[in-house]
Amino acid sequence: MSNYELGKTEPKLSTWKRLADFFNVSLEYLQGSQPFKNSGDSLTKENYYTTDQDWQTQSKSWFWKFEQCEAEALAELKGDWASQQDETPLLVGNYLHSYFESQPAHEKFIDDHAEDICKYGKPEKGLKKQYLDADKMIKALDHDPTFKQIYQGDKEVIVTGTLFGVKWRGKIDCLDLEHHMFYDLKTVDDFHKKHWLPDQRTPVSFAEARGYDMQMAVYKELIKQTFGVDCTPLIIAVSKQRVPDKALLSIPDYLMDQSMEKIEADQPHIQAVKEGREKPRACGHCDYCRANKVLNDVVDIDAIPFY
Ligand SMILES: [Zn+2]
Repeated sequence: MSNYELGKTEPKLSTWKRLADFFNVSLEYLQGSQPFKNSGDSLTKENYYTTDQDWQTQSKSWFWKFEQCEAEALAELKGDWASQQDETPLLVGNYLHSYFESQPAHEKFIDDHAEDICKYGKPEKGLKKQYLDADKMIKALDHDPTFKQIYQGDKEVIVTGTLFGVKWRGKIDCLDLEHHMFYDLKTVDDFHKKHWLPDQRTPVSFAEARGYDMQMAVYKELIKQTFGVDCTPLIIAVSKQRVPDKALLSIPDYLMDQSMEKIEADQPHIQAVKEGREKPRACGHCDYCRANKVLNDVVDIDAIPFY
């Protein structure tokens, strides 16, 4: 917490940001370094999650998908393949996020997703169990004095920038420019569980297994490029256990450095695949690869690859 408490204040920039928000122009435009007002293809809350944006800019979630299997990611980006993953954990996470964004955002989320989150799809029947559990997770944070004290910055702030020649975008759960901090809410089954990465003999935490170190490294850089402020990330994790656990998690610099090196190394090929200059690599064992498998290889039983 010392970073937060000792953080130098930067009221000027947050004032700039509020003015930019007020006039609905970009910060660069307001400060005079950009000649034109935001044009139609700029990023907004409304178009943030569109396929158009997924093609035009890189995001951590898509980069991560391409890292797992380029063939599956490209097919999904083209709309030729739908991810077979259970959407419930994502919805639970978004349910919780909307609560801490604002009351109207939470009400809108419940309205928009009534079919998925209510029993039998009917609001009068009440929420499904997962979302009642999510309410317990919300309570666990909402009643915590430290959480209440720190989670005070601007919510759902869109940031953009260029990483190694490619345009990226990100959305910050809670950005506190004045105290040089930003926060990301994460929901997790149990954050003490071991996770195994391919080719690694020692287990890693859920945060590394899901690439949250990469996400925080990217966000830190995008905040710097958007607002000119160097901020420190903190993950606020809350668990889905019967009695929810919670934690404030910092990300060591070496992990963020490694993540940036990985992006620098892997991005050229991923970008070439997106632009159709290179063929996507198939991992050979994801849902997509299994769905498209044809039996034309014979493998010795002592040479079956482990994943
Ligand atoms: Zn695959």
